[in-house]
Amino acid sequence: MYKIVLLPGDGIGNEVTASAVEIIKTVSKYFNVEIQLEEHLIGGSSYDKYGTPITDETLSACYNSDAVFLGAVGGFKWDNLPHQLKPEAALLKLRKALGLFANIRPAKIYRPLLDSSTLKKEVLENVDFIVLRELTSGIYFGEPRMFDDMHGLNTMIYHKEEVERIAKIAFKIARERNKKVTSVDKANVLEVSQFWRNVVHQVHKEFEDVQLSDMYVDNAAMQIVRNPKQFDVILTSNLFGDILSDIAGMITGSLGMLPSASLGTKYSLYEPVHGSAPDIAGQNKANPLAAIASVAMMFDYSFGLKSAANLINEAISKSLEENFRTTDIYSKGCQLVSTNEMTKSVIEKFEELFHSQAIGVFTL
Ligand code: NAD
Repeated sequence: MYKIVLLPGDGIGNEVTASAVEIIKTVSKYFNVEIQLEEHLIGGSSYDKYGTPITDETLSACYNSDAVFLGAVGGFKWDNLPHQLKPEAALLKLRKALGLFANIRPAKIYRPLLDSSTLKKEVLENVDFIVLRELTSGIYFGEPRMFDDMHGLNTMIYHKEEVERIAKIAFKIARERNKKVTSVDKANVLEVSQFWRNVVHQVHKEFEDVQLSDMYVDNAAMQIVRNPKQFDVILTSNLFGDILSDIAGMITGSLGMLPSASLGTKYSLYEPVHGSAPDIAGQNKANPLAAIASVAMMFDYSFGLKSAANLINEAISKSLEENFRTTDIYSKGCQLVSTNEMTKSVIEKFEELFHSQAIGVFTL
């Protein structure tokens, strides 16, 4: 039995979490996995009730979970609160408390959306890679840090165990995919990058069935838009990953299509990349597909149910093939649907695919 803690948060976080729950229940039913769901407040909704964006109860529920699902936090209402009380402060606290050092963002375009990206169709066809970003160290956390009228200073530092643990995750993930890791750094200029590169190559000795190559970050940025098909797993540090994952995100065409996973040694958290979208909150207009694809990642990475994850992704693809579109991905000639309708369609496609695969296995 798995225990999933749900943190819907604010705005459309609530709507897309409701969609995620529907999918979790469907997978639980068809794959015979017992799943316990426990919901807690986070962000502005937690501040309104408890005066803090995240309570100790919410944190301890997460400590007792097999996986956490987060919707999104934030909204105009809480914009003027002191920094530590803002909804977004809860995210940083949660990620730190759970030791989530590895952030995974897939860059994959569903075939029916090939025309909605700003990149050319022929460049995007069959692109399927992930950006694995180190999330809890590097220049964003390094000390000393300061600025005054005359200077500004930050420190980019990595310790051996920090590089080792993220490199191991990269190789393990690549083993389940196309067995290729591209480690991205700036070793021609930065000592910290040369160190990163050395450690990644040491770790690689345990994973020689996986192909490893190195790439400078400036070239990687160019290659992601020039020939993204060459990548399988991009492994990189916090700062470079921040930038590269956003570039890679454009491949999917819309914020509403971008899922993510953050993993630690013990805990894992899954969330759509988008925010709480106050402009469309409460209107049943939000695209639930990023949240649904985040659930697919949960079944894959936390519960080892890759077949369920694949089925969810195929069901998303089928719904798009039938031209169902929420407002953010709508184009002429398609059928405009609400959050609930899109969710319902993905569930129907999931059920159809499940039955057709089950019959296939039976016939064989
Ligand atoms: P946003 O991602 O909420 O919205 C940006 C634009 O994209 C909006 O026009 C919105 O309507 C649209 N959009 C986003 N997700 C969508 C979806 N699933 N379906 C359809 N359209 C979608 O970013 P923002 O407007 O800069 O931020 C709003 C609030 O969210 C802020 O308070 C911000 O701090 C917070 N935020 C939270 C997270 C998080 O919880 N992880 C991430 C980013 C921003």
